[in-house]
Amino acid sequence: MVAPNSPKSADTKKQKQTQHGQTTPESRSEDRGLVASILDRGETAHFRVEGMWCPNCATNIEASLRNEPGIKKATISFAGEQGRVEYDPDEADLESALAHLKGLGYQAHLTTDLDNREAERQQERMLLQLIAAAGFGMQVMLIYLVQLYPLYASGAFDTENVRNLQYVVWVLATPALFVGGFSFLLGAWRSLRAGNVGMDTLVSLGTLSAYSYSVYVTLTGGGEVYFDSVVMITMFIMLGRYLEKIGGARARKDIRHLLKLRPDKAWQRIDDEWQEVRASKLVPGDRILVRPGERVSADAEILEGSAALDESLLTGESTPVEKSAGDTVYAGTIVTDDALICRVTRAGEETRLAQITQVVEETLNTKPPIQRLADRASGIFAFGIVGTAILTFLGWWLSGTSPSQALLTAVAVLVVACPCALGLATPLAVAITLGRTAQQGILVRNPTVLETAAKVGRIVFDKTGTLTRGRLSVVSASVDPQTELSEEDLLCLAAGVEQYSEHPVARAIVDSCSQSRPQAEKFEVARGLGVSAHVDGRIQERVRVGSSRYLEGTEQSPLIDQAQERAERGETVVWIGWKEVTAGFIALRDEPEPTASDALRQLEERGITTVMLSGDDPRTAEAIASELGLSDYAGSTAPNEKAERIKEWQESGETVAMIGDGVNDAPALAQADLSITTASGTDVAGETSDVVLTRSDLTLIPWLIDLSRHAGRTIRENLGWAFAYNLMAVPLAAFGVISPVIAAGAMATSSLLVVGNSLRLRG
Ligand code: ADP
Ligand code: MG
Repeated sequence: MVAPNSPKSADTKKQKQTQHGQTTPESRSEDRGLVASILDRGETAHFRVEGMWCPNCATNIEASLRNEPGIKKATISFAGEQGRVEYDPDEADLESALAHLKGLGYQAHLTTDLDNREAERQQERMLLQLIAAAGFGMQVMLIYLVQLYPLYASGAFDTENVRNLQYVVWVLATPALFVGGFSFLLGAWRSLRAGNVGMDTLVSLGTLSAYSYSVYVTLTGGGEVYFDSVVMITMFIMLGRYLEKIGGARARKDIRHLLKLRPDKAWQRIDDEWQEVRASKLVPGDRILVRPGERVSADAEILEGSAALDESLLTGESTPVEKSAGDTVYAGTIVTDDALICRVTRAGEETRLAQITQVVEETLNTKPPIQRLADRASGIFAFGIVGTAILTFLGWWLSGTSPSQALLTAVAVLVVACPCALGLATPLAVAITLGRTAQQGILVRNPTVLETAAKVGRIVFDKTGTLTRGRLSVVSASVDPQTELSEEDLLCLAAGVEQYSEHPVARAIVDSCSQSRPQAEKFEVARGLGVSAHVDGRIQERVRVGSSRYLEGTEQSPLIDQAQERAERGETVVWIGWKEVTAGFIALRDEPEPTASDALRQLEERGITTVMLSGDDPRTAEAIASELGLSDYAGSTAPNEKAERIKEWQESGETVAMIGDGVNDAPALAQADLSITTASGTDVAGETSDVVLTRSDLTLIPWLIDLSRHAGRTIRENLGWAFAYNLMAVPLAAFGVISPVIAAGAMATSSLLVVGNSLRLRG
């Protein structure tokens, strides 16, 4: 696996791009600048977005990007503060497209460098705005409370005193609105330019109309001014937004936890000296030193030393793992107690950490269908509110109310409506959930997984490598005396055939041959049955190694009783033969996965049916099933039969999950509504299942189902609340029951409830 020089790593990088679907000819990517060419994954680019502060911003950016030439698809994640575009490299000028977002007031960076400083600065700016809104707003309110309200109450509207006071509150309310409320005014402007109507539009329309009307009255005299509403609305909205921002930041921190921990420095051996270099400069083959307490800077093989490594970042497992020479250490893990000298095997974007990060980013940038629906609904809803506000104004005015009172009622309608709660309902809950799964070492490839996982009614397990550990060992070899082979001959003959197989059985058999392994050619695989090949040596025929169904006439073998006895003890029996000859069998033993029976019990407790489908002998399957306390199982099931069975269950209305190790169960994994694999190799991103467990702990599955159910419940509560709130609040405002100030308070509380409810998912 160790590639000593960089050309090899360039190669793998190219392969990687093809894997993601498309290749970009090198020449083209050069045209688009260095950053873009490094970060492009084929025709998809990822970037960070700063300056979003309400889900509506994401909609604005998407709309604006889609209008750029050559950009086919744009998805912006409000919760993840990042985005993704699919584009045609011939037509699109990505950098200028992103630069155009500046015009709308957002900054987009083509970088995966997820540093938090900008987000913190934004939070500080919001705090300053809130202080401005509150500082000036309080003075306005004081003047109203002490002087203006009593004066208005006594019927004085046009005295010199009232007019002077109105000028004073005008002067104070102006910075409160335009400095304090700068964010939402800017947001409304951005929406306008992108052709959208959103939360910001409503609040801005509300405050600006109340403000303009009050200015008009101040200048012409003779009426009441509503600067009190203007400042109170601004204060409430800003307070709500600020708290929302803090809530969102908490959610993001969980995800960033994983993403930001890419080590950036490394000690590299150069000219017989340890020198500090940037981790991004490392290539496979480099020698690195990791000292106690430091993070490993690349995936590497230990050359000298042994230490306990904290791998919790990658696997969620908090107990350190002992490793020594020859073992692989992963980038991002911490050496807890001793120094290690290692040789880099995978660096930069190839490391396991980088691959996991990629998966998490992809997932964050994919919107679940329910969110698309909510986004669309909140857009339409905002338009509807503007219409309702106009109708409210006209209705009251035409029915004889004073225009100022009619206006105030319309302002209440604009301000009380909260499409933001609709927009916030899903993304925060999803982001928090994904953050938690990532911390536990569960990689979720798509947010719809959460929806499916919550609905699963039946879980199908593969046997070998899933319910058992997949680390088989040979316990016996039995030879038919007629064939004149020794046990050792039989093992090595089988090892000759198995040397190209990836099946866990193959590894054990290959290891059991202590003589020199014979060469073999014309290797063939019969999925779920066995393998065959021509082996150098005495046997001139094609040698078959596999289950009794794969060989002819094992029933007539004198060894059959012995083999069945083995199988009944839970051992896997692998036959060896050619043509009609059955030469003998090898019995192998696998340990049950330690967490399996716990996991099965927990799933049953949750009302989920568990089934084991194995390609192994029914007797072996039965023995393992009873050892694990599993009542539903089947043996002798070929890979496509597993898929067939799953399809039947699906047709009877069940949502079926399949868990396997990817060996001989790909068709079943593809058929299932939810596919889960255990990450065997280091190529985490290469796995195609919906969910990858990065550590072999099957109890992660009930955990994931609980979390998904909880997340689903939270999202439904959020959406339900958002709808119910708006359904009640808007009519109340339209009929004049709620004043603008109370409307603003209700609106801010409403979106805070959604944020608070989502934060409960953090557990
Ligand atoms: P499981 O469903 O338990 O994971 P598989 O479908 O992978 O099992 O394999 C089913 C059976 O096919 C094994 O028990 C074994 O008898 C046989 N088999 C599959 N691949 C091989 C192989 N490479 N060498 C020998 N036997 C094999
Ligand atoms: Mg298998």
